[in-house]
Amino acid sequence: MLNISEIFCSIQGESTYAGLPCIFVRLAGCNLRCDYCDTVYSYKNEITLTIDDIIKKVKEYAPVKLVEITGGEPLMQPKVCQLIETLNNDGYKILLETNGSISLENIPEYVIKIVDVKCPGSGEEKSFSLENLECINQEKDEIKFVLTDNFDYNWAKDFVLKSKLNDYEILFSPVSDKLNPQDLAKWIIDDKLNVRMQLQLHKFIWDKNKRGV
Ligand code: SF4
Repeated sequence: MLNISEIFCSIQGESTYAGLPCIFVRLAGCNLRCDYCDTVYSYKNEITLTIDDIIKKVKEYAPVKLVEITGGEPLMQPKVCQLIETLNNDGYKILLETNGSISLENIPEYVIKIVDVKCPGSGEEKSFSLENLECINQEKDEIKFVLTDNFDYNWAKDFVLKSKLNDYEILFSPVSDKLNPQDLAKWIIDDKLNVRMQLQLHKFIWDKNKRGV
């Protein structure tokens, strides 16, 4: 059984998969409390489902074959590995969005990991598990920094440079209402930093507080 917040189909709003139809399986519960969290509702369990129930719901959105497992923090529930295996056996491409604080060592290679490194503006900047860098595949996984201001930007830039992540897929994303995208764009261009700036597409398509999109 897994504690679930919501399951829905929408347009992927982040990562290099942005713009594609995607089924989201949002697991309930999170071990962090980021200041800007936009899914506070996911801290609480909405429904407990078996793996079979989840797969049945996911299949309602056929022919979409892209699934993102997210949260909350999905790795808080060890049974998530069973869900991943079942989805893979059923031919789904799996994105796993995780806050970076929990070990990735048991996550199969075929999963595309989108791993947060929390910056100071989140209030959780000590949460990242550095060992996780060993589990991130440069060819296909993505590392995401959510930024609230220029201090966060410089902190993230230093992290990328010191950890020699220049050739990884690095995402820099401004917190909506906190950091003006034009400012972030200017800093990246001025520094000629090899990172991908991204805006949360779903917040432009729908109301930014709308759930299930
Ligand atoms: S890790 Fe994600 S879900 Fe958890 S508090 Fe931070 S932003 Fe919210």
